[in-house]
Amino acid sequence: MPAGPIEPVEMEERAWIEVDLSALETNLDFIRNRARGEVIPVLKADAYGHGALPLARFLFQRGVRRVAVATLAEGRALREGGVEGEVLLLGSLHPLEAEEALRWGLTPTLSTLEAARALAERARALGLLPRAHLKVDTGMNRVGFPWEEAAMALKAVEALGVRVEGVYTHLATAGEDAAFVETQRRRFQEVRRALGEGYFYHLENSLGLLLHGATAGVRVGLALYGLVPGFGLRPILRILARPTLVKRLKAGDRVGYGGVYVARGGEWLATLPVGYADGLPWGAVRFVKGPDGRLLEVAGRISMDQTTVLLPGPVGLEAVFEVLSADFGPTGLLAWAEARGTLPYEVAVHLSRRLPRRYLE
Ligand SMILES: *Cc1c(COP(=O)(O)O)cnc(C)c1O
Repeated sequence: MPAGPIEPVEMEERAWIEVDLSALETNLDFIRNRARGEVIPVLKADAYGHGALPLARFLFQRGVRRVAVATLAEGRALREGGVEGEVLLLGSLHPLEAEEALRWGLTPTLSTLEAARALAERARALGLLPRAHLKVDTGMNRVGFPWEEAAMALKAVEALGVRVEGVYTHLATAGEDAAFVETQRRRFQEVRRALGEGYFYHLENSLGLLLHGATAGVRVGLALYGLVPGFGLRPILRILARPTLVKRLKAGDRVGYGGVYVARGGEWLATLPVGYADGLPWGAVRFVKGPDGRLLEVAGRISMDQTTVLLPGPVGLEAVFEVLSADFGPTGLLAWAEARGTLPYEVAVHLSRRLPRRYLE
């Protein structure tokens, strides 16, 4: 037979990530009801592992006016995927990025005059209108023009011909130091008075909004993905997997690296094709949900690509296990983060791109 192109086969996956867009919409509605102004969904780091492009498409369909990402490449990927809506680049534009930001129609954040100058110059050369948001530093000391100099900075940036459309700041201690949240808000309020209306002001992140309330537009990531317990928000993502092998152990059998699980004899074991390369934090995944929803214990260490779990009895290879569940229980993302001694953000952004995503509407 002559060699021809390989026909793609519609394949059922053995492991995948499922993202529930209707749960995303419920979270968005909750946030909109709490916010007093515009809600900017933050889709940086591939929407915290949830997949920025499908989420951006969905959110613009649901009436969102703009989304935010962290890097030029993230903004460009949205454009290449056909997203035409307003995309804000968070962080601080580097002068070297000015031209590409303009070409892709992305709205950069300015915290230096060098970047503002580069943006204005490149825009003139390309015959494009330079637009930007101004970042004001009210106490985080990371990026932004010092808040005391915001009016001067605005004047200087506008004098270069840049159209400043928004002005914002970022909270350093939401959920940790309420007094400093108030200090930052007071400073931002002064900035607002000095700069006047006619700009879109935005301030709170998820914890700022949920714990302290909104005083301007909000930029939310964590809450949108439902990764904050106690407010009725719920996670929107699960990791599901089918076993590649199910067997019964003999007394004394040792399982996995280090042989740390030693069988009593007679217990059933399933091997699931997901491991720490898929984003399961090593040393922190202790349980998985079985096909009937029961909690199953992980046997031994997880490997890079595989995880072994104990079963009450045999199951077929078509059975579906919930490795990460969309809740706040022992198989949820917050339990993983806590066991790992890290932030839910870090666990979420490390969910691997090699797991295919399925989106439910
Ligand atoms: C990431 C980010 C946010 C969103 O923070 P959450 O805590 O996920 O809501 C908001 N603003 C800026 C500037 C950010 O970098």
